[in-house]
Amino acid sequence: MQVNCNFTNKSKVFYTVSKEDEYLFQGKRKRLVEILKTKGIKDPRVLAAIEKIPRHLFFDTSTARPALLDHAYSDKALPIGAGQTISQPYTVAFQTEKLDIKQGEKVLEIGTGCGYQTAVLLEAGAKVYSIERQKTLFDRTKLFLPYIGYNGAKLIYGDGYKGLPQFAPFDKVIVTAGAPYIPNDLLAQLKIGGLMIIPIGEGDVQEMVLLKKVSETNFDKKTLGSFRFVPLLQNKSGG
Ligand code: SAH
Repeated sequence: MQVNCNFTNKSKVFYTVSKEDEYLFQGKRKRLVEILKTKGIKDPRVLAAIEKIPRHLFFDTSTARPALLDHAYSDKALPIGAGQTISQPYTVAFQTEKLDIKQGEKVLEIGTGCGYQTAVLLEAGAKVYSIERQKTLFDRTKLFLPYIGYNGAKLIYGDGYKGLPQFAPFDKVIVTAGAPYIPNDLLAQLKIGGLMIIPIGEGDVQEMVLLKKVSETNFDKKTLGSFRFVPLLQNKSGG
């Protein structure tokens, strides 16, 4: 099956998405879930989402090497094009679990990438708003997620530092790229009682921070260990 993409540079790009979800991949997903359990992930909705979502389809299969697809269910971050990565399954599971999402909650995601985390949030019952800064990834994911059956997310091409004031307030905010600081606009768009999870740090390694908005001006802050993310880009025109 081919999906036709019109990218902004006006060239038409074709890529192939395999719709098959073979027993092999189901078995690999079950093993991945066992690995995540041994690493401490407990939330049954998160584990069920990872067992269900065909992560091997999130790679652009026209450019991904077969060797890369073989690793689709290893607990690793992998390249997805445009210099970006699909987050490590453990990281996706960890951030989602800490947000403790309830059915129907409004969740703002910063850094859509290929949409894997978006799919996990949808499976966890969230109403998802997701922002991506890179146009090529945004265009691809906007076609791809509905193609594999995830129609519910509102995907926006824009700057994650600014959030989405027009859809605020949000119950939860998840940032999936390393930020040098906590953007004030995102704090402002969180509901009182709401949670934000964001990796903070400018180098290769960031500290995972979980914030609870206690009042308009007060936040409880917990740090939850070191993780590795690509940077949350500043002052960059998309492309
Ligand atoms: N959520 C993805 C992770 C993608 S990696 C997953 O499930 O795998 C982080 C993403 O953040 C990249 O796609 C990158 O292009 C995007 N990004 C970087 N800076 C951004 C910004 N300022 N606003 C929105 N997205 C940004």
